[in-house]
Amino acid sequence: MSSKQAKFFESVQHNFDRAASYTDIHPGLLAQIKVCNAVYQMNFPVKIGDSYEVIEAYRVQHSHHRLPTKGGIRFSHLVDQEEVMALAALMTYKCAIVDVPFGGAKGGVKVSPRAYTAEELERITRRYTVELIRKNFIGPSIDVPAPDYGTGEREMAWILDTYQTFKGGEIDATGCVTGKPVRQNGIRGRTEATGRGVFYGLREVYNEEKMLKRIGATKGLAGKTMVIQGMGNVGSYTGLISQNEGDVKIIGLSEIEGTIYNEKGIDMQAALDYRAANGTIIGLPGSTSLPNRGDWVGIECDILVPAALESVITEDNAHLVKAKVIGEAANGPITSKAADIIIKNGSIIIPDMYLNAGGVTVSYFEWLKNLSHMRFGRMDKRFNHNTYENIVSTFENLTGKTVGNKEREFITRGAEEVDLVRSGLEETMINSFYQIMEVYHGNKKIKNLRDAAFVTALNKVASDYMTLGVFP
Ligand code: GLU
Repeated sequence: MSSKQAKFFESVQHNFDRAASYTDIHPGLLAQIKVCNAVYQMNFPVKIGDSYEVIEAYRVQHSHHRLPTKGGIRFSHLVDQEEVMALAALMTYKCAIVDVPFGGAKGGVKVSPRAYTAEELERITRRYTVELIRKNFIGPSIDVPAPDYGTGEREMAWILDTYQTFKGGEIDATGCVTGKPVRQNGIRGRTEATGRGVFYGLREVYNEEKMLKRIGATKGLAGKTMVIQGMGNVGSYTGLISQNEGDVKIIGLSEIEGTIYNEKGIDMQAALDYRAANGTIIGLPGSTSLPNRGDWVGIECDILVPAALESVITEDNAHLVKAKVIGEAANGPITSKAADIIIKNGSIIIPDMYLNAGGVTVSYFEWLKNLSHMRFGRMDKRFNHNTYENIVSTFENLTGKTVGNKEREFITRGAEEVDLVRSGLEETMINSFYQIMEVYHGNKKIKNLRDAAFVTALNKVASDYMTLGVFP
């Protein structure tokens, strides 16, 4: 058992137990919530070059209290059963926190995507999907995968196509997977969703008076400094949106090749372009490279955002953290022992199960779009536009003045799909934040936000089980 993954699984279990002790949920029900309901490990052959490779893969359904189950598929050479189980459990709590009516699941394929060609990855993805179909582990009402570390819309398109090949007659087949390309039944705003959700979550933290008092910070995100570890989908959009819409100053970025720093601020788009062109962030004009790749942890900043893999902040480096706010954009980046150290040192951790829930929230919207067979906004966009036009014209007639073209366009615009997705996501992140705050401020025993988020989730899952009549 590799120690990082084992630590991660232990951390999730440990956090569960502590949060559970703050609830009055029946121990029998807690035991049912804690375990993974179904674990499917598979080994299948795939032709790679002239020979065959046996690929190890998993799909774990943590909780069936709501169906379908939901969660991404990870492609990484570090995948193992403990890791996928921990990630599946986190999905259950995440969905509960943001009121997405799904159980939690997760998939993992033990491959390093960089070691294969696109064609080989396609073969692996399609074969994995066939294994899921054969065991009834995928379907719009059964279990709905999505992107995760090492996968994206390309893999989701392959999954959909494979599923449709077998189940083309199912009227809701397109809802068998989310995070699909927009032209293949995906939804606008899904790719940026996790990063956008991280931004909305952090914005709420910096709006809440008691939180600000606790960390001794001024109100609002504008001007706050941020360091991001990981420039994949989540890290990139967190950086871009925080910078462009929140006026956050990004002063440090870390990737596999190393960590760069610029106290005057790094333009996120320039850093992404530079990395795309050069294959590295090292050497980005204006920035200095820090001696060790792990140095991102100790950079002095307001907000530290680990946005890659689990267990990157452990009891070995937690004492180096200087940020007052650590936003868990990744799943499980801070081990439970590290969290104790960070909190003792006076910082706060915005927990993954809340902060990175934007992805699954918009996946839910995509699934709803697939089941309704219609794009959001199709029915009402034009109607709203015409109504607003009439209002503006009426005011113009009454006042004898005319509104400028730009203002008119702004006022009379009907919402497009992407506007509705963003507004639904924003509403969700705000709402869930205050649900967690209510638990945090309402129970003296609860001392940190992870426990508050966990308790919020556990109470919802427990109440679902009771409604089902499984537990009295
Ligand atoms: N993989 C993402 C997560 O960890 C998204 C899951 C989904 O959209 O189902 O939350």
